[in-house]
Amino acid sequence: MDLNKDIQYVKGIGPKRAQKLNKLNIFTLKDLLYYFPRQFEDRNNIKKIAQLENEDRATIKAIIVGSHTSSPRKGLNITKLDVRDETGYAKLVFFNQEYIKNAFKVGDTILVFGKVKKEFKNVELTSCEVEHLSNSPKSTCKIIPVYPLTYGVTNKEVSSIIKGVLNDKEINIKEYLPINILEKYKLCSIDYAVRNIHNPSSKEALKIALYRIVFEEFLMLQLGLFMFKNGVSEVDGIKFLENKKLEEIRSSLPFKLTKAQERALNEIIDDMNSNSAMNRLVQGDVGSGKTVVALLALSHCILNGYQGALMAPTEILAEQHYISLTETLKPFGVNVELLVGSLTKKNKEKVLERVKNKEIDILIGTHALIEDKVEFNNLGLVITDEQHRFGVRQRSKLSEKGENPDILVMTATPIPRTLALILYGDLDISIIDELPPGRQPIETIAVDKGKRDRAYNSLVRKEVEKGRQVYIVCPLVEESEAIEAKAATELVDELKSEYFSDLRVGLLHGKMKGSEKDSIMKSFKNKEIDILVSTTVIEVGVNVPNATLMIIENAERFGLAQLHQLRGRVGRGSHKSYCILIYASKSEVCRQRMSIMEETNDGFKISEKDLEIRGPGEFFGTRQHGLPELKVANIFKHMKILKLAQQEARIIFSKDSKLDNYENKGLKREIMNKFENIVKEISLN
Ligand code: ADP
Ligand code: MG
Repeated sequence: MDLNKDIQYVKGIGPKRAQKLNKLNIFTLKDLLYYFPRQFEDRNNIKKIAQLENEDRATIKAIIVGSHTSSPRKGLNITKLDVRDETGYAKLVFFNQEYIKNAFKVGDTILVFGKVKKEFKNVELTSCEVEHLSNSPKSTCKIIPVYPLTYGVTNKEVSSIIKGVLNDKEINIKEYLPINILEKYKLCSIDYAVRNIHNPSSKEALKIALYRIVFEEFLMLQLGLFMFKNGVSEVDGIKFLENKKLEEIRSSLPFKLTKAQERALNEIIDDMNSNSAMNRLVQGDVGSGKTVVALLALSHCILNGYQGALMAPTEILAEQHYISLTETLKPFGVNVELLVGSLTKKNKEKVLERVKNKEIDILIGTHALIEDKVEFNNLGLVITDEQHRFGVRQRSKLSEKGENPDILVMTATPIPRTLALILYGDLDISIIDELPPGRQPIETIAVDKGKRDRAYNSLVRKEVEKGRQVYIVCPLVEESEAIEAKAATELVDELKSEYFSDLRVGLLHGKMKGSEKDSIMKSFKNKEIDILVSTTVIEVGVNVPNATLMIIENAERFGLAQLHQLRGRVGRGSHKSYCILIYASKSEVCRQRMSIMEETNDGFKISEKDLEIRGPGEFFGTRQHGLPELKVANIFKHMKILKLAQQEARIIFSKDSKLDNYENKGLKREIMNKFENIVKEISLN
């Protein structure tokens, strides 16, 4: 059957329903079949009445033992069914659904899906879907797709229209992915995928179906981008060679790499040893150990006789990298140097001179690295840490200081710019999805501002008495370091006079000189400060394992990803660590966001949830670029599939850049359709 057929002519739809579907931007049969659910509700598990919890949405199997109707006021009619199973009694409540009492009689066995209200032993189910017990239940005991909807169209309508259409024997969606790809990635056919997304025969089947669609969405997006942006921008790069000494450096580390670190490192070394220039993104949650991967990549570079550069967003972080790299690499005769804005002119000139003469192997710094004066002798590898702090241009400015050096960017936060890089920048991705062993998860507690006193008086004190240290993060002030600094100073005064006159309180903010910050951080590291009050300058990378408590004031002002970054400053040693989020908002969104922070320590999940709350439109914004939207695929949730699809896109593109080979014909047609807007634009020019 022709999938481009207008839906009003599809059997069982007709003009009236078609009009409704048009509201959802569904015009053709294909639009309808590809109108995928936003989520799924699992109604499979039948629960016993005694097991039901308040607020559950659950399915029960029960016998009707009583039936009443009442009409408390005009226009309101309430039907109640008393039911029981072998564990207890429940009431089903229906508003203005008089047909219920005729359709379901005392003595009938029924299946009910509904929302549970439980007070003491009284169980009530509302918003019920009821049906007689049968072998093929329609609305209970199944996985039910939940569609994105608009006013005047219900989920049931959409679902039953699509199911009706899929029942038509003539409909068979023709496969368009090459067969070898289906086999290679064990993908199901498109027909199976579409059927099971709308009407899952089991959880397993749904999973298989979704996998196929996610893969294909990424594959087509990436292939389309390659085709319309003139291909993979592969440039010739340095071909590094294996060097035995790298293993020596590696075994001098005080720990063994995690599997994930090892994998990322191998991917990096493979890139470095290839003919083309590396362009790779390393994503790893806070504390996953990205620095040591950077260190080994830099080592590989200098063992090959090239210089390396590492750029960090703040001086504190740059200094910290400098210290840890020096510590590890000095015994191997590697010269590491630091270049930050706060150096004296004379010292800076000295450093620059030595970089140019190749007396320095690794230069670490802030964006001072990209100033014009900085000249390298033979820059082979450029690494930027916490890359979301830098613009794309800053990054390329650094790499222009060499001749096609390899490029590595590291980030803990998958954020919009990262997304843009994936879409436009043709980056490869390595994922460090494992924390070093022995880490204790940080316990996060969100409290209302009213409990601030208690947090200070009991928690802070307790940790300090145990010999631990505490961070207190000041409220975020819009875009002004000066005001933020003032707020931080005031907070310190308040803390000193009202709470901690007997403790050592330190202050750190962005307006301080580099040397001041440095000395405060050093004192904190050396345990000469108990409580460090800080603005968000503390956000990235700082490492003080003895700090076990972080209090964040006005937590509602921060992005979730940022809160996660901040809290990553604790939980770095073997002691149990805590993060207290103090919030001063009563909004529902605030409550939701705080509870996400309490529930998970997984940075990827947090970004994803943040995205969910803020809504993807604003975030992804692909439509305005004429790019096809991703309906099921999610760049955070499905990072691993994205990687596979990207890899495959590259293989396909390198063999058949116009997709003219016979086996790629179907794929090409689909991509051209998806990229319709871009195709139009090109043909206009
Ligand atoms: P991030 O990925 O957030 O930049 P870091 O590189 O700062 O994380 O690492 C956090 C801490 O974990 C550091 O103290 C580092 O020495 C330690 N670390 C890194 N890798 C390992 C490992 N494989 N085993 C044990 N500790 C490790
Ligand atoms: Mg780091």
